[in-house]
Amino acid sequence: MKKITLSNGKTVEVECLSCALTSGLIEPDGGVVIETEYFHAHQDVAYPIKGLIILASKRHIKCFDELSKEEKIDYINILSKIRKAQRDVLGIKCVYYFYNEDTTHHFHTWMVPRYEWMYEFGRSVESVRPVLLHARNNMNSEENINDVMKAINDITKELNN
Ligand SMILES: [Zn+2]
Repeated sequence: MKKITLSNGKTVEVECLSCALTSGLIEPDGGVVIETEYFHAHQDVAYPIKGLIILASKRHIKCFDELSKEEKIDYINILSKIRKAQRDVLGIKCVYYFYNEDTTHHFHTWMVPRYEWMYEFGRSVESVRPVLLHARNNMNSEENINDVMKAINDITKELNN
């Protein structure tokens, strides 16, 4: 079991945070953005960036080549659907996608929107880590959190209507 501190400050002990989230054991702040048979999307509000989405598989797998045929199709469909909602609802022009197979949780893709303010942290992929840390440590004002929550609401509505 691992002890994990959630974005709301609560501590939980789970085998795998992704399993706990996708099974509904832990409700993410802002709720589930969209869910399919094989995937589950939410925003990790510990990184309060508007439109940042984490898309996790429901099955406890780590690597891309472990996805079943059905999961692969579901993945690309849901990923592109979320991407479209980020554009249509939040005006997001570019998104950075990444996932690492050596995660301590399980298969999840980060969809990190690229905003103008991020250029001060570097030109491209090199800026992602500093941007995330900056967001986590310095963007917790009530105003920004409210903006992020509203964005989650809007994107959730768009994806589920
Ligand atoms: Zn898991």
